[in-house]
Amino acid sequence: MKKLSGKKAIVTVGPTIERIDPVRYISNFSSGKQGYAIAGALADNGAEVILIAANVKLDEPKNMAKIVRVESAAEMLSACEENLPCDIAVFSAAVCDFRVENISAQKIKKKPGEDRMTISLVKNPDILATIGNHKNRPGLVIGFAAETENLIDNAKAKLVNKNCDFILANDISKNVFGQDENQMVCVSRNHIEEWPRMSKNMVAERIVEIIFK
Ligand code: C5P
Repeated sequence: MKKLSGKKAIVTVGPTIERIDPVRYISNFSSGKQGYAIAGALADNGAEVILIAANVKLDEPKNMAKIVRVESAAEMLSACEENLPCDIAVFSAAVCDFRVENISAQKIKKKPGEDRMTISLVKNPDILATIGNHKNRPGLVIGFAAETENLIDNAKAKLVNKNCDFILANDISKNVFGQDENQMVCVSRNHIEEWPRMSKNMVAERIVEIIFK
């Protein structure tokens, strides 16, 4: 019997893409490495993992119960809600905070004499906050906080606002994007634990440990 046998987990991963027109989009530099490592570690430990993946260009983790491919934040939110209820939810996706208000059906053309253009953006739903405060809230909710300043204060605020059990915070000024290593601080309601810099696979193992405790 493995540690997480009988547990259903959803894991969000990857950078969402928010379309501007048929050939352009807004996104970010997330690779999805950490999320794939977490999904793999949960499955290795016996969990039934539903991987909700946005635009990740890596080899898929093994033994997923289901992989749902999405593009945008809106699609990711629907996929999460469709896969509730579950026991564990890990939100490692790098969701774009804003999406384009009116996606152009045609390729936007530059016009003679026009030296600037404005794209109107509207806020995306906060997937983690929605699921953290959902009537079918998973038993355990884990979020991430990628920060460039005030790491702990920002993580604590997210823990409360998004109703998480744990926030794994990292300082992204320390060169972690696309790397094989990560340096996290694990923040819960009554505990703050600094983890040493370690491989993303080791971080995934530590996350399995805090889930199992
Ligand atoms: O607010 P911030 O983007 O820093 O929060 C990061 C955490 O919230 C991550 O776990 C991320 O996956 C999640 N998030 C989300 N939906 C959003 C924005 C962030 O699920 N629209």
